Amino acid sequence: MARIRQLTSLVVSKIAAGEVIERPASVVKELLENSVDAGATRIDVALGQGGTDLVRVTDNGCGIAAEDLPLAVASHATSKIADADDLFRVATFGFRGEALASIAEVSHVVIRSRQAECDAGHEVEVVGGQRREVVPCGCPVGATIEVRNLFYNTPVRRKFLRASQTEIGHCSEAFTRIALAQPHVHFTLRHNDKLLFDLPPTPNWRERIAAFFGRDLESSLIALDNRDGEVRLFGFAADPWQSRANNRMQYLLLNGRFIRDRDLQHALGEAYRGLLLTGRFPIAFLRLEVPAEAVDVNVHPTKLEVRFADSGRIYALVLGTIRKKFLATDLTARVRTPQ
Ligand code: ADP
Ligand code: MG
Repeated sequence: MARIRQLTSLVVSKIAAGEVIERPASVVKELLENSVDAGATRIDVALGQGGTDLVRVTDNGCGIAAEDLPLAVASHATSKIADADDLFRVATFGFRGEALASIAEVSHVVIRSRQAECDAGHEVEVVGGQRREVVPCGCPVGATIEVRNLFYNTPVRRKFLRASQTEIGHCSEAFTRIALAQPHVHFTLRHNDKLLFDLPPTPNWRERIAAFFGRDLESSLIALDNRDGEVRLFGFAADPWQSRANNRMQYLLLNGRFIRDRDLQHALGEAYRGLLLTGRFPIAFLRLEVPAEAVDVNVHPTKLEVRFADSGRIYALVLGTIRKKFLATDLTARVRTPQ
């Protein structure tokens, strides 16, 4: 065996980048989360060639001060937490201060931004982790982050990318997970100049769900709203006549963040027990509101999985709420014969 040695910072940042940025969809997710964290009410996404050639996100959020632009792309630099205690009361999507640095490590990044109180915007370019000077530029209030040639300097990663159509599918799912959770924000998504989604803001969550999944599905949704102490569960479970062959239509939002949770998927399955054929999965759009200190979101680099302080209680809330609602709803009367 070779001797132990400390890795260079170059290797360390490549490893860190690999954890967070797996494919173009990871870039879409990180940039969209930053725009939402910045308080944007309008967010436009443009993709080129499945996102490998280009991911550009433009928002009208708070923007980045010119003197902060170098920090935005530095690793472990964030405006969202200040100390370790803050980790247990995270109210933003981001807090690791790693996404932009990781993206800039493996692509060509240009950030343009202007804050409302400034007359001019500023721009910074990073190529493969090498940052250029910050220069003034004209731009609207907010931020535009442009990511080109993803993985141009990591050929192995690039080789693992799939056909443009497949990558677009992943990007579009990342977009859906965030746009679904933020109905009050106007989102658009374009691929190679073709408009895929234009979602005007709405105060009504059903409308946003309908914009993604159609009126037919929306009309089958049964509203839920319940709480257990400080934990609130609300949203919709689809009538069992609507189901899927996999669990991908189970949108679980924890304090607005899309998560995957085996326990809660199980609770959902239990709630529909006896109502679905074997091999079919329920459709649900559930929002859980849990006090920030009752959940640890710092257990997974992309925060797709979280750890609840009291997962049993949340399991019981999901299962109990849906069961009770189904018992009180005349499900058979809602069954319609397929056209
Ligand atoms: P994190 O989101 O974990 O803080 P990022 O690397 O994603 O880390 O972003 C670094 C910092 O850059 C953020 O903390 C934020 O201050 C700033 N930032 C990134 N994107 C935007 C944006 N679209 N609008 C305003 N500020 C942004
Ligand atoms: Mg971020």
